[in-house]
Amino acid sequence: MAHPKRLLITGGAGFIGSNLVRLALLQGHEVLNIDSLTYAGNVGSLRDVQSNSRYQFARIDITDAESINQTLRDYAPDAVMHLAAESHVDRSIDGPGQFIQTNVIGTFNLLQASLQHYRNLPPENADHFRFLHVSTDEVYGSLGESGLFTEASPYDPHSPYSASKASSDHLARAWADTYGLPVLVTNCSNNYGPYQFPEKLIPVVILKCLRGEPIPVYGLGENIRDWLYVEDHCQALLAVVEKGRPGQTYNIGGNNELRNIDLVRSLCEIMDELKPMTMCASQVESGSASEANSGYSQLITFVTDRPGHDARYAIDARKISEELNWQPQQNKQSGFRKTVQWYLDNQAWWQDILSGDYQLDRLGRGARS
Ligand code: NAD
Repeated sequence: MAHPKRLLITGGAGFIGSNLVRLALLQGHEVLNIDSLTYAGNVGSLRDVQSNSRYQFARIDITDAESINQTLRDYAPDAVMHLAAESHVDRSIDGPGQFIQTNVIGTFNLLQASLQHYRNLPPENADHFRFLHVSTDEVYGSLGESGLFTEASPYDPHSPYSASKASSDHLARAWADTYGLPVLVTNCSNNYGPYQFPEKLIPVVILKCLRGEPIPVYGLGENIRDWLYVEDHCQALLAVVEKGRPGQTYNIGGNNELRNIDLVRSLCEIMDELKPMTMCASQVESGSASEANSGYSQLITFVTDRPGHDARYAIDARKISEELNWQPQQNKQSGFRKTVQWYLDNQAWWQDILSGDYQLDRLGRGARS
């Protein structure tokens, strides 16, 4: 096993962050999770680790420079793993301001505080310090029918989300080049798996199936994405902190390209198997009984495409695989099935989100203000 480290993880109450916190603790590390608990942050995703003596949580906003400086001074981490972000493309189109604040200014604050901390470390500790900036393949823009994003692909972001992440990637690299901060950057494809907020495509599909509601698919569903199981991403992030070369970028992907419509159909088929659709009275009355028997895919509904919607993302993950010996463990059959099963087995988790009750946890249950 790797040497245990003191990890400062930002955004650890989010989807990828909560999976990362759990895996890091499992690997023997200490974790301070700092998260401001926006709508996407859910302490209920970490209930099982709350009593772990190697785990701490602090509600801190990364746009608050003073609190970030104080945290770095007090906790003195061996590595910062920076995941906190506004992450939903549709929200970035409706309200880009918060994306600039969190993704750009927040990253700047963390880089500055980390640099200060790094410079104060004795040389033997400074040699081992790392700042990992976790980013997305969306910074590279859109691919044609062929080709893959490599670490050398030019940046060409199209949404306010990807533009804000691209800005923060450039800041992170500039802090390595200009100030010598041991920065690593990872750019990963679409994640899926347990604890994903039910506004993202895969949980949306599962929950719409369970509620018998229309499943919205943008355009004709022809956009192509590469999908990676979240635990595989987290394994890659810990490998990069442990063994990655400072100053380097690593692309992370699942080698698992799918058109959105094919992804949605696969999920419907898994749902058909794991929880067959029951015909409701209105379907019987309206004479759509035979359609009802054809399963959840009848719920698919095409909706107006998102503006600036990139056609295709696909990742060349050879560098991380060859240098750090990382490979995804889940393929699409196993990963999608595990995910559907998780949402079926953990209804209380997502029902708390749909009802808004998950936000009570940040005040203490029952203390609604
Ligand atoms: P998420 O939206 O589920 O979680 C983000 C977390 O950050 C939340 O807990 C939220 O409360 C917290 N946060 C937001 N603003 C904050 C602020 N100002 N201060 C402190 N905390 C704040 O996101 P995710 O899907 O888990 O993504 C995590 C990171 O990974 C992001 O940086 C994202 O860009 C990157 N990424 C995500 C994917 C993906 O498919 N989800 C793919 C590649 C990269």
